[in-house]
Order: sequence, then C-alpha cells, then structure tokens
Amino acid sequence: MTVSKLVFTPLSYTGWGSLEQLLPEVEKYSPRKILLVTDPFLKEIGLTERVTAPLTEQGYEVTVYTEVVPEPPLAVGEKLVAFTREGKFEMVIGLGGGSAMDLAKLAAVLAGNEGPAADYLNLSGSKKVEEKGLPKILIPTTAGTGSEVTNISVLSLESTKDVVTHDYLLADVAIVDPELTVSVPPRVTAATGVDALTHAVEAYLSVNASPVSDGLALQAIRLISRSLRTAVENGNDKQARIDMSNGSYIAGLAFFNAGVAGVHALAYPLGGQFHIAHGESNAVLLPYVMGYIRKSCTKRMADVLNALGGNSLYLSEEEASYKCVEELTRLVKDVGIPQTLAGFNIPESALESLTQDGVQQKRLLARSPLPLLEEDIRKIYQSAFNGV
Ligand code: NAD
Repeated sequence: MTVSKLVFTPLSYTGWGSLEQLLPEVEKYSPRKILLVTDPFLKEIGLTERVTAPLTEQGYEVTVYTEVVPEPPLAVGEKLVAFTREGKFEMVIGLGGGSAMDLAKLAAVLAGNEGPAADYLNLSGSKKVEEKGLPKILIPTTAGTGSEVTNISVLSLESTKDVVTHDYLLADVAIVDPELTVSVPPRVTAATGVDALTHAVEAYLSVNASPVSDGLALQAIRLISRSLRTAVENGNDKQARIDMSNGSYIAGLAFFNAGVAGVHALAYPLGGQFHIAHGESNAVLLPYVMGYIRKSCTKRMADVLNALGGNSLYLSEEEASYKCVEELTRLVKDVGIPQTLAGFNIPESALESLTQDGVQQKRLLARSPLPLLEEDIRKIYQSAFNGV
C-alpha cells in the first residue's frame, strides 16, 4: 500500500464574481494595515482599484505596492520583503499572475522570519522558515500558475530559477474569480493556459501521482483542453474563462500534491538564461519532453489522450501515447506558441549551458517517470532546437 500525503488548503472561493468574498474574509482578520502586492499594469487597467475600493470604503488602510515584474528576480523579492517588514503590515493580499502572488506570499512569510530571502532558497539557501508570518489572501488574475494553492515561491536567479518552499507559504484564502482574467491578452492567455495544462499532465505522469491527484489532473486536462483555444481567440468568452480558471486552480491542487517534473526542470533554465515567460518555456518544451518520456508511460498517456478529447479505444497503448504527444503538440501550435527554441532566438551554442543548469533541478527531475540524466536532457534540448 502506498501512503500519499495530500494537502488541500487554502479556503477557496471559485466562480464568476467570487471577488465579493474578499471583504468578509478580510473582516475575519481585522487587520489595521494591509499590503496589496500587484504589478503596475494591473493598476493601470483598474483591477487593483476593484480590490482596494471595497476595503477602503470600510476604513481599511491599504498600501498598494506595484513593483512586481514578470518572472521576478531575487532582488525584487528582497526589496519587497524589506518593505513589508518595515511597514508593520498585518495582512498581505497578492493580486496578479504567479509573479505577484509568489512575491506576496514570500513577503508575508518572511515578514515573520529573519534574514534575506536568499537564505531560504531551496538550492543555495541554508535557513528553514520557522514562523508563519502574516495572513495572506491570493487572487489570481491569470489562469496558469496555480500559485494560489501551492507552497512555493519562484524567484529568478542569474541563469536559472530557484524556489522558497514551506507549507507556511500556502495562502490562508484563495479567491479565483475568472472575471479578473477577461483582460488577459491572447499571448499571455496561451502561455499561462499551457502552463496550467503542463501542471496537470506532469502531475498525472509523476512518480508521486496518487488516485486523488489523478482525478484532479484529468479533470484539469479536460477543462483546459476544451477551452484554451477559445479563450485565446475570444477573451470575452465567459465559459472559456471559467473553464480556464477552474482548470488552472485544479491543476495547481494536482501538481502541488503530485509534483511537476522534466518539462519544468528544463524550462527553468530557459526562463533564467533567456527571460522567456514561464508559460512559454513550458509550452515550447512540452511536446519534446513528452515525446522523449512517452515510452515509459504509454498507459498513462492513453488516459491523457482521452482527457484531451481524443479516443484511445481502438488504439494500442503505444499508438495512443504517440497520439497523445501529437495532440499536445497541436494544441501548443494552435494557440500560437513558437514550436522550437530557435523560434525564441535561442542559439544552438546555448544548449550546453541549458543542459548544465537543467541537471541541477534534481527535485523536479526525480518525479519523471523516465529518469532524465544529463545525456537525456542534452538530447531533449537538441530536439527542441531542431524541431524534431
Ligand atoms: P505573470 O504574473 O508574470 O504575468 C504575466 C503578464 O500578464 C504581466 O505582464 C501581467 O501584468 C499580465 N497580466 C496578469 N493578469 C492580467 C490581467 N488580468 N489582464 C491583463 N494582463 C494581465 O505571469 P504568470 O505566468 O501568471 O506567472 C509567472 C510566474 O509564476 C513565474 O515567475 C513562474 O515561475 C511562477 N510560477 C509559480 C508557481 C507556484 O506554484 N508558485 C507555479 C508556476 C509558475
């Protein structure tokens, strides 16, 4: 018998209009000073105001911090942590994509711990989080990362990415309102949507998958695959946005419990060295990693094919697994993401340094159904460069 540790927090509200639950949830904590962590674009388009207005009307003091940048570097995280400690806040709200939510939870937790964020990094840090820090509410405005339900904060380093991870980084409340994603432009909808799909597929194929995470992963694949193309083509399609937000949230629960693997391990160096958005890094690699590991998990790939809307009934497992890789490749292509590393202007000369950084991601690689060693990683980057 296998024992699975499953963590399903935080308290969550999902559905169109669920942002209305913010005020009653804030009231439970009665914070005197609230820090809202977001990015400048969300302030510009008025989303920030939608969150602050009901709070300030009730007399809450809200400080809006807009210095979040996409794929935030460690230094941006350090600055926010210092700001949060000095400001004597009593609650942190993260509003935005994974970049804003990751920084919000990092700042909330490290406000109660000592020393720089660098000390708490998984690969190079030496300290463990000891205190829970401030209460935090996370509100995603993209449908992608699932950060609202994970205990991870991702930071960009010089040539790769690293994470701070501890269960104290789990939000106290997540509010997943698809209405907040309507303004996401097509390219970001595509990248974040494939990110969520990758979470679900990798969770389903993970060596740590369990019957519980399997159910979540397959449902996320169904919702995302049926609505991603529509959400990219017509961002105002309400049902597509609802499916994508639910799919992303469920995929987050699945991968937080089962883990992600090779796609993410190889995507981190692409983000670190070439500043490619996280979703796009995953998307360009997804078909190649799946093609490479296919032979180790043909039965599970047949299940993924069915969840993608295909039909494995009259196919052998081998045939179904090929078809699964084909379907994933087609989806990534249909939503307009470049199909090769060359499409992102990555030179062939970079493949070796990408390989060397990819090998470092042992935590992620350990969950791949096919063990991925240095030579395997080199081959996958090469095929993603060549496009075959
Ligand atoms: P992002 O947060 O960087 O946002 C991408 C862009 O979309 C930004 O320019 C932002 O302004 C814009 N945007 C966001 N919401 C919008 C809206 N409603 N309307 C219009 N524009 C909007 O992108 P992301 O993909 O959500 O997050 C990426 C980050 O999340 C990376 O650093 C990645 O490593 C991290 N991540 C974290 C986890 C986790 O579990 N913590 C999981 C996956 C990825």
